[in-house]
Amino acid sequence: MTAVQPKHTAASVGDTFDSLSPATDEVVGTYPVHTDADVQAAVERAREAARWWASLGFDGRAERLRKWKGVITRRLAQLCQVVRDETGKPIADAQLESVLAIEHIAWAGKHARKILGRQKRSAGLLMSNQAATVEYQPLGVVGVIGPWNYPVFTPLGSIAYALAAGNAVVFKPSEYTPGVGKWLVDAFADAVPEAPVLQLITGFGETGAALTKSGVNKIAFTGSTATGKKIMAAAADTLTPVIIEAGGKDPVLVDSDADLDAAADATVWGAFSNSGQTCIGVERVYVHEKVHDEFVAKVIAKTEGVRAGSDAGAKYGPVTMPSQLAVIRRHIADAIERGGKALVGGVDAVGDRYAQPTVLVDVPEDSEAVQEETFGPTVTIAKVRDMDEAVEKANNTKYGLGSTVFSKARGMELASRLNTGMTSINAPLSFAGIASLPFGGVGDSGFGRIHGPEGLREFARPKAIARQRFTAPIALTTFARKEKTDALVAKLITVMHGKR
Ligand code: NDP
Repeated sequence: MTAVQPKHTAASVGDTFDSLSPATDEVVGTYPVHTDADVQAAVERAREAARWWASLGFDGRAERLRKWKGVITRRLAQLCQVVRDETGKPIADAQLESVLAIEHIAWAGKHARKILGRQKRSAGLLMSNQAATVEYQPLGVVGVIGPWNYPVFTPLGSIAYALAAGNAVVFKPSEYTPGVGKWLVDAFADAVPEAPVLQLITGFGETGAALTKSGVNKIAFTGSTATGKKIMAAAADTLTPVIIEAGGKDPVLVDSDADLDAAADATVWGAFSNSGQTCIGVERVYVHEKVHDEFVAKVIAKTEGVRAGSDAGAKYGPVTMPSQLAVIRRHIADAIERGGKALVGGVDAVGDRYAQPTVLVDVPEDSEAVQEETFGPTVTIAKVRDMDEAVEKANNTKYGLGSTVFSKARGMELASRLNTGMTSINAPLSFAGIASLPFGGVGDSGFGRIHGPEGLREFARPKAIARQRFTAPIALTTFARKEKTDALVAKLITVMHGKR
């Protein structure tokens, strides 16, 4: 058995890989690199388990999901330590994402019956002899491929909803956080020992690719746009449906009547927490010219004391993927070369493990720092003459994941005009914590929705049933249909729909 480091060469049969702490490079776990055959075997086991899981019905599954969330909650401190070991983030941040994930498991289990259970539909006047119903049946086996930045919250946003809808799940966590994935799957097995309803496969991109072409009934992918495109192309071969939860370049809009302290606080936390490695993190801010200077001063003041590190006083941890440091550095350098100014930080703020906060102003709108996902602790702030210009600029990227508006009078109006899947008003990222709201993006941020009723329906297939209650007085679907009947139908449809 050879152990390889993450992001090294492709795996060969029997290989393992090490999970390293990004804070110390210490090996914190060793995991198998699962091959195509391993993945196929896991999917076969999942097919069997899916039948049992589906047979439990909504109540049986809800009961078991309740047990699982109880196990996670009681062992929360242990989970947070595994998250810290593999991502380097502060324990408090690990706890926040885990708490939100627990809320999602609870919501999905509790609401599945109401949202996916059999529902009556109106059959309409012409078909009034029919009883119409729709029910949402499980898809079978769902493959979930997750990223490392929120290794609990992000995959569970798909896994909990797929399970609640009656599917078995095969889960491939990022190569950077296999230990967190294993912990979650082991906790599930403790709560549901009867069958392998939730299984783990580990490895590199190749293992994820094997899952994509394994014949699962849906792939729920969260990660970069580039990988999302590869997955969609591979899934096309087998017509496997996909959900793509990809990157973002989320804007904040600050109106002239906004609570500037709250807006500055949200900007600083949204941009720098988790070292900026947040798909819905704040990357750009558009501020009304009347309050721009005051807002910028508040952001600078609030950034003081916000520092990356691994000690107890640090507000966030290391950049998890070493290759990302070069991207962050490049975006800052490009912004400055093109006339931007770093009011805090700059190129030198990016070290070889940690990146300190950078606040940029006067950055051209077509530069990388404004257009591309930086995924680091940087933010650009731009002055706008009014909120129409703010909306126009905010909408002018290929991404459309989340967004935030600070405005007392126009919050709802501005939120509706933003071309993103989600917006929070007067608080940062709140939509992500509300389990009843769908989560997902548009454009290069992907498509499909996790969380909420929409998230449950993503993992189910609508089954339409029409049951004849009595023989229709006007028989339409028979060769025995009379001319008289056609004439009557023509009259009826004119009365119903022919009005000018
Ligand atoms: P990647 O796209 O690099 O990886 C995501 C997952 O896909 C990993 O498990 C990865 O495995 C796997 N993978 C890589 N190549 C393939 C392939 N060809 N076929 C199948 N699977 C593959 O993303 P990151 O892990 O770097 O995550 C960061 C990105 O995720 C950012 O862009 C961020 O914005 C986005 N994100 C989006 C969220 C959303 O909900 N919209 C939430 C959180 C993050 P391995 O790691 O082993 O290579």
